[in-house]
Amino acid sequence: MKISAIDVFVMATPLDEPFAFSQGWVTQRSATLVRIQTDNGLTGWGEAFTQGLEPPQIAAATIEHALKPLLIGENPLDHAVLWERMYTRTRDYGRKGSVISAISALDIALWDVAGHFLQQPVSQLLGGRYRESVQPYATGFYRQQGKNEASRLAEEALQHRDAGFKAMKIKLGFGVNDDIEVMQKITSALNDPAIELMVDSNHAYSRADALKLGKALEDYNLRWYEEPVAPEDIAGYAELRQNLTTPIAGGENEHTPYGFNDLFRASALDVAQPDIGSCGGFTAARSIATMAHANGVAVNPHVWGSAVAQAASLQWIATIPPANHSLYALEPVLEYDRSSHPFRQQLVSAPWYMNNDGNIAIPKGPGLGIEVRLETVEQYKIN
Ligand code: MG
Repeated sequence: MKISAIDVFVMATPLDEPFAFSQGWVTQRSATLVRIQTDNGLTGWGEAFTQGLEPPQIAAATIEHALKPLLIGENPLDHAVLWERMYTRTRDYGRKGSVISAISALDIALWDVAGHFLQQPVSQLLGGRYRESVQPYATGFYRQQGKNEASRLAEEALQHRDAGFKAMKIKLGFGVNDDIEVMQKITSALNDPAIELMVDSNHAYSRADALKLGKALEDYNLRWYEEPVAPEDIAGYAELRQNLTTPIAGGENEHTPYGFNDLFRASALDVAQPDIGSCGGFTAARSIATMAHANGVAVNPHVWGSAVAQAASLQWIATIPPANHSLYALEPVLEYDRSSHPFRQQLVSAPWYMNNDGNIAIPKGPGLGIEVRLETVEQYKIN
């Protein structure tokens, strides 16, 4: 079996109502998808994580010009050898960011091909499942104006609760006082300690302000405090861990086992959050998870892509052992982006939704367990 074709699809569509997180305004939803085809008629799909401010063309150009020539004609089952080749050949200009997202997309597609070849879900190829379903948490609370939206965000919390979510993550990073008001309004509106909360400031703050916010939120019993400081400030992460009881989470802007190794060696995290579409795909993600657990760090993936990235994340989440084994171990939760995304669900023939029990079932079909709808790809593709 040989790789015979690799196609990249850049998809984007403007949002009717742009929204903000602490780093800027998101005006479009986009995706970089990749399709690998083999000489025996198999197809695999992958997706590069495209964060809200990231042009999807960067990963696409990397795939087209740098990585595709390394894979054409190769055996798609050699995913580890091919990962190493892609990484070492881009090392001098890659290592972080969109270049690694491009490698991630291809790695995901290689595993999808392998799953179709062996007629098994990727989770089976990774060693089997710890769970058949996962509890989603609502990611939302983006801003429509900027500051002073605490009352509207409290209303939004009730909408997530009414939709069945038992956990939700609140976007902060709009000024410490504004953040505290948001948390006060949301928790008093929910008035239910059984609803689990996390916060995410998207590295908006200095160490001093991150600590000030963290101290103010100590009594909220948060599951985690995400990206308190800039991803490069590893010592700042470690300092916050030493000064707060709330678990510190991060990693959506870190890449590869090499990058996560720096975080683990510095004792910077309680919860590592690699994104399958930017940490290096399945091949890197399983190494990162092993390293995390060897360092006493839990793994809870970051997920913010279209349906292809979500499907890959579901396969991976199925295989992550509970971080600290016990009869009542804390299970990983699925980040479920509730913000506007015009083509996320349309991209696959059988989109997933929350079951009546509040969980999302992990697909059981071969590979990623999805069928990509080419008509949706064509409709939103801009390249
Ligand atoms: Mg985040």
